[in-house]
Amino acid sequence: MKHKGILIVVSGFSGAGKGTLMKKLIQEYDNYALSISATTRTPRPGEEDGREYFFLNRSAFEEKIAENGLIEYACYCDNYYGTPRDYVEKQLEAGKDVILEIEIQGALKIKEQYPMALLLFVMPPSAQELERRLIGRGTETPDVVKKRMNRAIEEAQGIENYDYIVVNDDLDECVKQLHEIIKAAHNTPLRNEEFIENIRTELAVLSKGEK
Ligand code: ADP
Ligand code: 5GP
Repeated sequence: MKHKGILIVVSGFSGAGKGTLMKKLIQEYDNYALSISATTRTPRPGEEDGREYFFLNRSAFEEKIAENGLIEYACYCDNYYGTPRDYVEKQLEAGKDVILEIEIQGALKIKEQYPMALLLFVMPPSAQELERRLIGRGTETPDVVKKRMNRAIEEAQGIENYDYIVVNDDLDECVKQLHEIIKAAHNTPLRNEEFIENIRTELAVLSKGEK
């Protein structure tokens, strides 16, 4: 089925600034709907159930999987993360651009199911800056920081699967760039097939009338 809204996947190494960017993007522009994932990881200080994530225990998460309630899920650094199906389908039908801020295994599963999805990868300006941000956030133990930095090495191998990279150096610039890319994606021929067909038909009708 064709939707007016685009399904947008945003991935990037832990600490690159995805969460910060998405918050600002939806604050500054209308028409974005940010999907809230389910996860088995414990909430960070300040995180609220139903706002940053739906925090579930392992058995509740597995129940969601069993009832086909997730459009994708993956294991990341010992925890499950997954995208609830209902919200995404409803918002796309309502013509919203739906953003999934998810890691790379999930991104590839989305691409299989929604070939027209737009895949964006947020890069840090440098690896050192990435580590600085991850440590500076102060939400992870040194052990988990290490795991996440190691995970970045693996994720870096898959960046070519994405449509665009954006570098999160200046936050405001990066938000603007994300928005511009999404705006441009709305104008690809494959996302405007119906409009193009209509013009073709109109041209044919018009040229017949003029004979
Ligand atoms: P992610 O969601 O990708 O794991 P966060 O959004 O939590 O990353 O950002 C990680 C840390 O980096 C946070 O402390 C955030 O305030 C900071 N940060 C995000 N973007 C920038 C930026 N452009 N410049 C400097 N610091 C940033
Ligand atoms: P964090 O624990 O830092 O919030 O998220 C860890 C990783 O899980 C990030 O790369 C984030 O993008 C990813 N993630 C968040 N929600 C989902 C989801 O629903 N599905 C998948 N596959 N990854 C997710």
